Amino acid sequence: MKSSNLGYPRIGEKREWKKTLESFWAGQIEEHDFLSIMESIRLAHIRKQKEIGIDLIPVGDFTFYDHMLDTAVMFGLVPERFQHTGDKVPLSIYFSMARGSKDAPACEMTKWFNTNYHYIVPELNSSLRPRLTENKPLKAFQEAKAKIGVKGKPVLIGPYTFIKLSKGYDSKQFPALILLLLPLYEQVLQELEKEGAEWVQIDEPILVTSLAKEEMATIAFIYQKLNEAAPRLNIMLQTYFEAVDWYEELIELPVQGIGFDFTCGLEENLKNLLKFGFPSDKILAAGMIDGRNIWRADLAEKRKLIETIAAVVPKDQLWLQPSSSLIHVPITVKNERNLSPLLKNSLAFADEKLEEIVYLAKLFRDEGAQEEDSYYQDNQQAIHLLKNDASRDNHLVQKEHEKLKNERAERKSPYLVRKKLQKEVWKLPILPTTTIGSFPQTAVVRKARQKFKKGEWSRPQYEQFIQHEIQKWIAIQEEIGLDVLVHGEFERTDMVEFFGEKLGGFAFTENGWVQSYGSRCVRPPIIYGDVEFLQPMTVKESVYAQSLTNKAVKGMLTGPVTLLNWSFVRDDRPRQEVVEQIALALRKEVEALEAEGISMIQVDEPALLEGLPLKEEKKQEYFEWAVRMFRIVTSTVEDTTQIHTHMCYCDFSAYMHDISKMDADVISIETSRSHGEIIPVFEKETYDKGIGLGVYDIHSPRIPPVEEIVAIIEQSLQVLDAEQFWINPDCGLKTRRAEETIASLKNMVAAAQLVRKRL
Ligand code: GLN
Ligand code: ZN
Repeated sequence: MKSSNLGYPRIGEKREWKKTLESFWAGQIEEHDFLSIMESIRLAHIRKQKEIGIDLIPVGDFTFYDHMLDTAVMFGLVPERFQHTGDKVPLSIYFSMARGSKDAPACEMTKWFNTNYHYIVPELNSSLRPRLTENKPLKAFQEAKAKIGVKGKPVLIGPYTFIKLSKGYDSKQFPALILLLLPLYEQVLQELEKEGAEWVQIDEPILVTSLAKEEMATIAFIYQKLNEAAPRLNIMLQTYFEAVDWYEELIELPVQGIGFDFTCGLEENLKNLLKFGFPSDKILAAGMIDGRNIWRADLAEKRKLIETIAAVVPKDQLWLQPSSSLIHVPITVKNERNLSPLLKNSLAFADEKLEEIVYLAKLFRDEGAQEEDSYYQDNQQAIHLLKNDASRDNHLVQKEHEKLKNERAERKSPYLVRKKLQKEVWKLPILPTTTIGSFPQTAVVRKARQKFKKGEWSRPQYEQFIQHEIQKWIAIQEEIGLDVLVHGEFERTDMVEFFGEKLGGFAFTENGWVQSYGSRCVRPPIIYGDVEFLQPMTVKESVYAQSLTNKAVKGMLTGPVTLLNWSFVRDDRPRQEVVEQIALALRKEVEALEAEGISMIQVDEPALLEGLPLKEEKKQEYFEWAVRMFRIVTSTVEDTTQIHTHMCYCDFSAYMHDISKMDADVISIETSRSHGEIIPVFEKETYDKGIGLGVYDIHSPRIPPVEEIVAIIEQSLQVLDAEQFWINPDCGLKTRRAEETIASLKNMVAAAQLVRKRL
């Protein structure tokens, strides 16, 4: 029984990777130094996995930005606008594709399956002539062999997943694209075989989504070809994130090993394994240790699971590994200094997960590892302590949660009644203008927060600073002529951390960073205990802002589903129970705002779709509870209180019908970055409530001209009623500079005025 890994976090224990990238982009280091620092980071990661004792160490999983982008570049798939000629793609073009350049907008970026990792979407179109610009897995294999003496397991994204996740082609072109790319894949594998690689890991996570049965025939064709191309190279066909639908077909494919997820897809995959068995000429790579969450595994439980599997698949035909690449978890618990000892001892990040795998493999190889070992005993002790930790239970919360079951979570009156009442109370002009919540988090704002955190500033000093910012920006918004104002969110670092820090049941790491996209890392909080509302979290700033103006100021909260999806969640309770507790706590915040006279309240759900199951048949159920969560938070308010929500990052076009059931009085949705794809949806779908489709892209420093905004508004008004339409940017403005923000918003207000006149 061998131990294996699928992918190791790139970012480095101290985020060295991120820092190196950013200083290279800023021109502070030369390309030569950049490459050599990156090499040392890459090699250190392989060395570490070797020391931990992993038998099959992945190579080629490292990247300078994203592994999908690497694959596109390796195949020379550089969109024309980047004007690449010649063979090898230089770093400058590689990074332009990821981040845009003066002359060419970046490639689109989107979520990697149901994770918070974002990949760069390859653009395939008929004018591209794919070719192998470099064999990245080969280079990685050679490097690890030469420099560390490790015979790695090269990793690459499989052709089916790669094409499926790309854009720019229609389904008719799909077969042709496969035929174009297959020879390149074959060449990659042949060169690896020649170099002496034994195994290659080909990731096909698309296999866990709902594929049509015919697609399995295409996949069989692909792997037939790849297998014939390099007969001495073993292919580990790797799936993760869920169970596969076509188990029987999959195990018959001409590959030498198949990897399954026995955490997220445990039930289905295990059922299939026990029912249909597993071929005796293949390796089963069992994803045992959760690659998506941060809790220590219960070794006793895992042992039993391995025994169950080993009853079907002989031990020497089994690999033990994490359920997915470890890029979705932080690197090591070792450096955490602020967690309670009990919690710290209950966690396993990437390195600790690999240790668990190595130990389990040894246990089955009878190599000295035994249940009496201190490692095993310590694990069982930690599991026991966590299970019995009374601080995770909050009986008050549990009691309230119990009552929630029978709640209908409906507003007092239906939307049409509320609409009329709200119109009378709010007296807004037609096409009201507003923003999404945050204003620029300038260096001054960040510095002030640091001073406060370090204790250089007292709380009153810091709060005074925040008030001053609010005051400044209320005045700016009035001057610009916006109709509905916001306080600006200057007191918030991050829309999840801010609330997590104020709610009971959350814990925070010091170094628990995870890559979100490119060099951007996030530090998800840990939901450790029952989630409790302790005291109002946003009331003070909102009330202060409202006291400065006669215009409405929106209260501003992060919604329950987003808080859940952007945290590491306790796994001793169903996720639904956890999110219900969050919803209850947020409802108290909504009620506190309303009680203090804040009666326009926005509850942001940018990550609503992030938890959407990968399988079609599970999506409806997800929507039902996600929508219900929003309604629990927002349904107890008066009819005249106007509930807003905001969503972004995702393609919502297929889901407007479900989103409408959230019953928010007003919704704002990001539109520009997905190139207005959502607008045509409203030709068919009726949406009867207030809606703002972002009229300009906040991710770019560019100031949108008035005419451009007018055109976008008019386009939207062809499918939506002027009576329901709101005018706002795509998302919050915290990453923009003040001058850009003011200039852009002035144009937005001018555009609104122009369109109003024409109505
Ligand atoms: N209210 C938040 C802001 O404006 C929303 C952020 C988001 O959608 N991600 O920053
Ligand atoms: Zn947004």
